[in-house]
Amino acid sequence: MSHSVDLIDIEMIFGQVRAVEKFSASVEGGEFFSILGPSGCGKTTVLRLVAGFIQPTAGRVLIGGKDVTGSGPHQRPTSMIFQSLALFPLMPVWENIVFGLEVRGIPKAERRKRAEELLDLIALPGFGYRMIHELSGGQKQRVAIARALAVEPQVLLLDEPLSALDLKLRQHMRAELRALQKRTGVTFIYITHDQSEALAMSDRVAVMSAGKLQQIATPRELYANPATSFVARFVGETNEFPGRVRGVSDGIAAVETRHGLLKGRAGPGLRAGDQAAVYVRPEAVSLETQNDNRIEAEAERLEFEGAVAILHAKAQDGQAVLAAIAHRGLGQAPVSGGAIKLSFTPAEALVLAHG
Ligand code: ATP
Repeated sequence: MSHSVDLIDIEMIFGQVRAVEKFSASVEGGEFFSILGPSGCGKTTVLRLVAGFIQPTAGRVLIGGKDVTGSGPHQRPTSMIFQSLALFPLMPVWENIVFGLEVRGIPKAERRKRAEELLDLIALPGFGYRMIHELSGGQKQRVAIARALAVEPQVLLLDEPLSALDLKLRQHMRAELRALQKRTGVTFIYITHDQSEALAMSDRVAVMSAGKLQQIATPRELYANPATSFVARFVGETNEFPGRVRGVSDGIAAVETRHGLLKGRAGPGLRAGDQAAVYVRPEAVSLETQNDNRIEAEAERLEFEGAVAILHAKAQDGQAVLAAIAHRGLGQAPVSGGAIKLSFTPAEALVLAHG
């Protein structure tokens, strides 16, 4: 089993900028762990702290249970893949892959053998004597991964490695990366601002906003039970109805909104009088009328997407409301311009402090 990574109360301050505040996370050995957040939220800084390129202003970094705070990148069992890939264009593929082994004094014959094994692993056998410029984007990507794995790291750090690829290739490489991670058993820490990428590949995801950790959870849990309003908005589509909490009982919070009283499962620490919002996914909004939460709206347009149709509606106060309607519900779907009632159950809605 590969090494675990523990970040304990990490803080990183650059001059006036608090890039990372009180960040704690325990990544298990052999886990595919992603850090997800918008540009500038501090995710690359966390990765560089794990690699040892920079040292935290406070807190500790443990790899495989050993405190490595203060030690440099070469003293850590980590390897990093950069966004730019940083391959050497004038070197053949095989030399690129085992470049790190030459520096370690491993003889040429052995390096060649190791390169062949890694070329098999990344499904590019026979590509050893190609030059880097003779490869496609996805092939270069795989060579960069092989090079990072050549030094047999316990932990592989990946900084948005798919961002330069087109959508189709990116989706293909997601599956490949995930399979490769499971096959090698190496702990992966993967940085991305793309939520669908994080959800598709990871065992668990840490969501960050403005230097702070928002939540660590499995992809399903993040989607079903976001811990904060930031996570509810950032991961997947959501409708958001702000208001004031009237009361909480049996785990259900009732919120006074511009659309009347709406109810949902109460998020952590909610109390009567709090500013909050009711969050509900489009697929939980229906045209049925018996649900507890009802919103009067006007249908604007229906976008057919195959398995579902997305109904864009406008509530009486002008707020946009999205409903994803499955095929079987389409029979009752309204024509554009028609008055409709949208509804959802309290069990499928979540009430969170409004931040
Ligand atoms: P992106 O997705 O755009 O790469 P990010 O989430 O990886 O963003 P970081 O690169 O970690 O964000 O940066 C977090 C904050 O720290 C930013 O405000 C950035 O300007 C600042 N920062 C990062 N490195 C330094 C540095 N060496 N000196 C000063 N400020 C820095």
